[in-house]
Amino acid sequence: MSFKVFIIEDEKALLETLKLNLELERYHVETCSSGDLALAQIKTYNPDLILLDIMLPVLNGIEIYKQLKDQEIATPVIFLTAKNNVHDKIEGLKLGADDYITKPFDLEELLLRIHNVLKRNNPQKQDLTLFRFDNCEINFSTFQVLTVNGKREDLSKREIALLKLLVDNVNNVVSRDEILDKLWNKDENPSSRTIDNYILNFRKLFEINQKDPIHFQSIRSVGYKFCV
Ligand code: CA
Repeated sequence: MSFKVFIIEDEKALLETLKLNLELERYHVETCSSGDLALAQIKTYNPDLILLDIMLPVLNGIEIYKQLKDQEIATPVIFLTAKNNVHDKIEGLKLGADDYITKPFDLEELLLRIHNVLKRNNPQKQDLTLFRFDNCEINFSTFQVLTVNGKREDLSKREIALLKLLVDNVNNVVSRDEILDKLWNKDENPSSRTIDNYILNFRKLFEINQKDPIHFQSIRSVGYKFCV
């Protein structure tokens, strides 16, 4: 089953790029470039997620969002905000938006945020198991990964669980304590080296240059961060 995403964005080039990339990720996509037409289309299409630009002609994103709430349409919304418009961002989150992303944004980060919002809102749907970044792939249900060298490898349950935890918190630090708490039993007592070894292995699998990692970063005395 594919998720349906509805994009409201008046920058045509950005709209086309988003549509194309979401379709490559096997989402169904419909789009709209004018605020006043959005609501009727949302009702017809009944999407699982809405990407909503704030600065739109006729009716802006915040107004559209208020109308959705007024009509009790509970579809999760990710706002697309202009870089400097902190006010819009705060306004959107105050109203209860699920997330926002600042333009210009990294496509992979947006895809991850979409993935996470959909997962939060659809815990019963199991088809969001494949995560791609660069040329790599992680399959959270088969525990198989495609490495930076194009090889398929099987990982352990704990390795996949750690990848999942890091990916779910993309671009944010996950503390050592949280990792130990979630992935190890109290009586196992792993040394701090243990997690380091997992991270070293992830770098071997997924980093072009293990000595200068882009994706799997250690934050000294705090924890680890997965970055895209
Ligand atoms: Ca706009």
